[in-house]
Amino acid sequence: MIRLERLVVGYLDTNCWIIAPDLPGRQPALMIDPGDDPDYLAAAAASYDVIGLLITHAHADHVLALPALAESLNAPIIGHPAERKVWAAELDHLQVHGYLDAGTATAELVAKGNAPRPNPAVPLWDGRLDQEIDTPTTLALGPLAVKVIPTPGHSPGSLSVHVAGHLFTGDTLFPGGPGLTSPDYHLTDFDAIMTSVRHLLTYPPTTVIHPGHGADTTVGTELPSVESWQTRGW
Ligand SMILES: [Zn+2]
Ligand SMILES: [Zn+2]
Repeated sequence: MIRLERLVVGYLDTNCWIIAPDLPGRQPALMIDPGDDPDYLAAAAASYDVIGLLITHAHADHVLALPALAESLNAPIIGHPAERKVWAAELDHLQVHGYLDAGTATAELVAKGNAPRPNPAVPLWDGRLDQEIDTPTTLALGPLAVKVIPTPGHSPGSLSVHVAGHLFTGDTLFPGGPGLTSPDYHLTDFDAIMTSVRHLLTYPPTTVIHPGHGADTTVGTELPSVESWQTRGW
């Protein structure tokens, strides 16, 4: 019913996804989180008609390949308008520090001499969104209904995507808990992310969760832990 390709890119091993109907012949596809390495992603997308590039949020590790792919694939950029201020903060950090903010991984990357920086040969996104989504919205992908759901908390305009028993949660929900929120981490909100996580965990237990980094999990695996996450506060 659905074909999924996971492509791991960039300094935080971001999961970029290609979603398409599992039908013979050339199919329309949605790409989620083109985080880096546009040539690699463009090659992977070449056998599809990419109808959109959707960002779950605008942290740099999810968007660095956006402008190059929007041009080479002639595909619209889809995201939540509240992410413009997230991207502006990312660019400010780059300006002030000379490298990108990678959340809790930043200090370790800098200490190893791997401070995250954009590839100077790749254009930086200008924050342009061709389609803004700020309420639950269903996109047609051939016979598939792709539901895009605002799930704020890790960032104010974080989006998750539900299609055919699969949830793409960006940095909102991982195996073992919600994504990063912290009083020290700009524009994050723990109460908001817990509301978002509780909503995502209302999908059936067999629903597969694909986070923005690392391994998959399921709703049924994570649901029993939600009160412990609330109590611990992260
Ligand atoms: Zn993030
Ligand atoms: Zn991320």
